Amino acid sequence: MRQVEGTVFDARNRRLKRMPVLWLAGFFTVLVCLSITTITLWQLRQARNHELEIADTTVANLSRSMAQQADDAFDQAEIPVAGIVERLSFDGFGAATSSRMHDFLRVTAASVEQVQGLFIYDKEGNWAATSLNRMPDNADNADREYFRFHKSFDSILPHISPAIRSRTTGEWVIPISRRVNDSAGNFAGVVLATLELAYFDRFFDRFDIGKKGVLTLAMADGTILARRPIQENLRGVSIADSELFSKYLKERYEGTATVRSILDQQLRRYGYKRLDRYPLVVLAGLSEEEVLGEWRQYAWRSLAIIMCVVVANLLFGVLLFQQIRFGLNAESQLRIASHSLEKLALQDGLTGLANRRHFQEILGLEFVSGHPNQHPLSLILIDIDFFKTYNDNYGHVAGDKCIAAVAECIRGNLNRTGDLAVRYGGEEMAVFLPHSEVQGAYRLAEKIRLTVLARAIEHRGNPEGIVSISLGVYGCGAQECPSMEALIERADSALYAAKHQGRNRTVTG
Ligand code: GH3
Ligand code: MG
Ligand code: MG
Repeated sequence: MRQVEGTVFDARNRRLKRMPVLWLAGFFTVLVCLSITTITLWQLRQARNHELEIADTTVANLSRSMAQQADDAFDQAEIPVAGIVERLSFDGFGAATSSRMHDFLRVTAASVEQVQGLFIYDKEGNWAATSLNRMPDNADNADREYFRFHKSFDSILPHISPAIRSRTTGEWVIPISRRVNDSAGNFAGVVLATLELAYFDRFFDRFDIGKKGVLTLAMADGTILARRPIQENLRGVSIADSELFSKYLKERYEGTATVRSILDQQLRRYGYKRLDRYPLVVLAGLSEEEVLGEWRQYAWRSLAIIMCVVVANLLFGVLLFQQIRFGLNAESQLRIASHSLEKLALQDGLTGLANRRHFQEILGLEFVSGHPNQHPLSLILIDIDFFKTYNDNYGHVAGDKCIAAVAECIRGNLNRTGDLAVRYGGEEMAVFLPHSEVQGAYRLAEKIRLTVLARAIEHRGNPEGIVSISLGVYGCGAQECPSMEALIERADSALYAAKHQGRNRTVTG
């Protein structure tokens, strides 16, 4: 039964050995490193996208707020212009020069922050009235774009002109104007309000858009009116070629886009919106470099930490690899040692024959669960004659050597696998022969006896003068031996008979 358990254990052990534990450890270490790196990179990517999404929302909100502000600013300037046009159309153009009109223009211009001035021109382009305190000498605005526009087009809609430098103050202004018709419907003049561009610059200054952010108010054709950061040389410059105008604003009047600026080559996330009622466009841009600034620092920090973790993991993996290899070596040495121990536990130290325990185990296998033997069995019991006197005459050490010599004679005669030579106890030995009939066992017993005699070991206490042995043989056919004990007892009786009959002989039981 023990043998059966041992076989199961060996099979399991072989299966375990077949598992490439070292490769599994390596694979696992690499897998952990890859997983950590992949998860970190994925999280960094998510965080980056999140930052960009926030930037897009910010610029979209900013552009809406700027559009609303521009709408309101132009509305506030346009309302008095429309009122004056209405009044002149009703009262006649002569009302333009009245002192009441002058007061009205002055008070209105002063009460609306962004309005730099209100002006009325007659049909020749001469100044008829102004909110300013002083009328310039030889004032003639017939060459201005708005004047030529209203003169040529009979439209009652307000008109916004490109930014110009005011002839009165020298400041950059945007004119918003309307045509005045006389009662016959002919061109009678122009009413004009000028909006200070500095007003938009001041408004733009209120927002936090970083160092590289941009806020722009432009004409629908791409002409810059106001911009933050303020660069005077950029006023009036056209950015019609930029992707925002050439592509995005053509597709939609409002949205967000990532575009490289044609002015300073910065990559920005832009929110853009074209005003509903005026031919104006507002742009709010945040530099992608600045938007991702904090994320970039966080990413470097995370990558540094991950690198440390990965290196530590790899070092741990190498250590684990070495430990497993060490463990496997130790295990194989242990297996060898355990094998030797097992062998030692089943072997007799003096003779090298199987010990009694082993003998009983092997015999036990033949009589599993108390059933009779399944095939023929034979047992030879051997005892050295007059051994007590051998010990007395030659000493115990010589006695041991004699036992070992007899054991060698026994082993030398065994050549069938399965035959088992045993030191049964003291100077008694046995040979167990499975599958052997009694006749065969007897022949082998005699061969052993003769071999011992042929060895001619001196023994003064033996009448023969040399060491001799007595042998008891018992053999049984299949199903004939009822038990292990019976087999031993019968062989022992035969040995006893051999001793009784004068020793140095083989007797079968
Ligand atoms: P017999 O012919 O009847 O067998 O006589 P004997 O003197 O051999 O008697 P027995 O078989 O009873 O002898 C056993 C003796 O063997 C007792 C002991 O002194 C000796 N002996 C037993 N084991 C050992 C051993 O391991 N080494 C040595 N040197 N002597 C042993
Ligand atoms: Mg004896
Ligand atoms: Mg004896």
